[in-house]
Amino acid sequence: MTTAEKQNLVYFVSGKMYINLTNLCTCKCVFCIRDLNATVEGVDMHLDNLKADADEVIKYINELSDKIGSEVVFCGYGEPMIELESLEKVAKYVKENYPNVKIRVNTNGHANLIYKRDVLPELVGLVDTFSVSLNAENADLYKKITQCCYDADIAYQGMKDFIKESVKLGFNTYATVVDGFDGAKVDVKMCEKIAVELGANFRVREYLNEGYS
Ligand code: SF4
Repeated sequence: MTTAEKQNLVYFVSGKMYINLTNLCTCKCVFCIRDLNATVEGVDMHLDNLKADADEVIKYINELSDKIGSEVVFCGYGEPMIELESLEKVAKYVKENYPNVKIRVNTNGHANLIYKRDVLPELVGLVDTFSVSLNAENADLYKKITQCCYDADIAYQGMKDFIKESVKLGFNTYATVVDGFDGAKVDVKMCEKIAVELGANFRVREYLNEGYS
């Protein structure tokens, strides 16, 4: 395969390198670009077998290393922490071979619910930043927006616990909401208050037709 044929494993948004590890997710967000767009910046993000092979991802990172920039972001058409083993392998490789590059994971914060254990300690030293989708100011709205596979209270609390634990372990932690999508109106001020109470930074992600900021 040439790089052009595998652009959906390692792709670029606004000049930043992104890794698309999986098409699976515990959510089905109303604004998810998986359902709204087949492509990001012209690249079809649907993966063979719904997931990426870590060694293949590493190969394309190396092929595209001249464009690696200062931060690599795990974010694609799915929840990257579902492929935890691959995420750890790729992050470790980047840390060892591109020591100046920071690693960010954009996540729904369900990893500890998925694995039924706290996976965050094993990511210390591999991941610099977690950007966690807070999404809403209460569990009912969260469930409505994310359409996740867990009960509203379990999912919302699980995601908030993930944020708290991430802060506690010293990761640079952001709690985010998506603004600008008509079908999902959130109380941004209230979400900011919750993020601050959890000890996280707060970020509003502007909804874009071709992805998120
Ligand atoms: S958590 Fe992310 S990948 Fe999963 S459905 Fe929501 S927007 Fe899509």
